[in-house]
Amino acid sequence: MESDNYSHARVVTVIGGGPAGLMAAEVLSQQGVHVEVYDAMPSVGRKFLMAGKGGMNITHSEPLPAFLERYGARREQIKLLLENFSPDALREWIQGLGIATFVGSSGRVFPTDMKAAPLLRAWLHRLRGNGVVFHMRHRWTGWDDAGGLCFDTPEGVRMVRVGSKFPLTQRDPLPIPLPQAGEGVNVKTSSVDAVVLALGGGSWPQLGSNAAWVSLLQQRNIEVAALQPSNCGFEVVWSGHFKNKFSGQPLKSVVAGFTDAEGVVHRRQGDCVVTDYGIEGGLIYALSAPLRDTIAVQGYVDLSVDLTPGRDLARVSAEMAYPRGSRSLSSHLQSRVGLNALQTGLLRECVSAADFSDPAILARAIKALPVRLIAPRPMAGAISTAGGVKLEMLDQNLMLKNLPGIFCAGEMLDWEAPTGGYLLTACFASGKSVGDGVLRYLKY
Ligand SMILES: Cc1cc2nc3c(=O)[nH]c(=O)nc-3n(C[C@H](O)[C@H](O)[C@H](O)COP(=O)(O)OP(=O)(O)OC[C@H]3O[C@@H](n4cnc5c(N)ncnc54)[C@H](O)[C@@H]3O)c2cc1C
Repeated sequence: MESDNYSHARVVTVIGGGPAGLMAAEVLSQQGVHVEVYDAMPSVGRKFLMAGKGGMNITHSEPLPAFLERYGARREQIKLLLENFSPDALREWIQGLGIATFVGSSGRVFPTDMKAAPLLRAWLHRLRGNGVVFHMRHRWTGWDDAGGLCFDTPEGVRMVRVGSKFPLTQRDPLPIPLPQAGEGVNVKTSSVDAVVLALGGGSWPQLGSNAAWVSLLQQRNIEVAALQPSNCGFEVVWSGHFKNKFSGQPLKSVVAGFTDAEGVVHRRQGDCVVTDYGIEGGLIYALSAPLRDTIAVQGYVDLSVDLTPGRDLARVSAEMAYPRGSRSLSSHLQSRVGLNALQTGLLRECVSAADFSDPAILARAIKALPVRLIAPRPMAGAISTAGGVKLEMLDQNLMLKNLPGIFCAGEMLDWEAPTGGYLLTACFASGKSVGDGVLRYLKY
């Protein structure tokens, strides 16, 4: 019996209600597929909402070639996704939900109210209108021996069989042996044509994406590149005095640079924050992938920080050579080169006492202050995750080659990008592509 005969009755399960899973649900439901979204949490889109807390940066306005460079080694694979759903298409799609967007001075794109909640609300309303059914507090826990997907739910265990050719009316209960339920355990079973896994990465696990899927997929011979923190802070061994005095303070408009283990120089201007464990913030996130990879090779990185990007070394040297008279060194640094208390504190922290009294050495340190980073911060606190399901495991429909009928999308795939809207854009685009891929697989 060909399942094409029952195109009206196609059922797809989407596991994970983040941007990638919800976009897949939208694409499928728009074509009349019956979509059931399962999520472990009491509500969907929790990380998406969190992303909206500090101003939802949904995409970036730069031209596509520059945009694609942000995905580094994965630019060619991400290009296929963005050709199918471009940053401009994403903006139009948001507009279609009644949410206007604007381009900020940095080229980043935001909803006009900067928030995620109104967008998510409108989107869920539309999805429900398309007939999408949501099953909250349903945690996917793996496969049973017969290849069924198992969910822990407040009502007991739920099983989902994948790839049945039976029409909906025959689907519940299934004409296959049910798994053995333990005493008092309620087992409910249904059957679907395909499954989209959109389970997210491993950061901020309290929002739902706890990366428990890694071992579940590895058990089914799916290769997963080790998850690692991306867009993360780094650890620096600060003195007690420095931490107590400056933790939480922003270091504004500095240039940070370093040479990676392959000799490539990375350099960026921006802001960061001193914390009691080290250093965080946009400037550091932008450099975090090569910083992390370099620390993995050599055990540390000496970040070279230029505290006065607007003044070159000759000028800073001349200013530092100026007699300071009876003024303290701090007020001399403030008046001659504009260093604030944190910048002076950082100089004192990273330059030896002997060197501190040598104006020439101090001038060089102001332009290239070595701050030693010894480790990335743990993944749980990172903005995003590198690593994930290796893209070679997927076919052109984003279906796992080893597991027919099971598709993957979103941050759980092996790519990474800096902040700037590149993360959400690729998640949305992979959700769109996986939806299209499932439709092709189901011969729509
Ligand atoms: C603080 C913060 C700020 C951010 N800001 C931005 C930003 O401004 N711009 C940007 O582009 N990106 C930002 N991001 C990143 C962006 O939010 C993520 O990349 C994106 O949400 C990932 O989408 P996803 O659909 O792949 O996964 P997720 O959004 O993580 O969704 C995955 C879903 O799967 C569910 N799930 C996981 N495991 C199971 C299971 N076993 N069973 C059932 N359900 C499960 C989870 O509960 C979750 O709902 C930010 C992230 C954080 C943490």
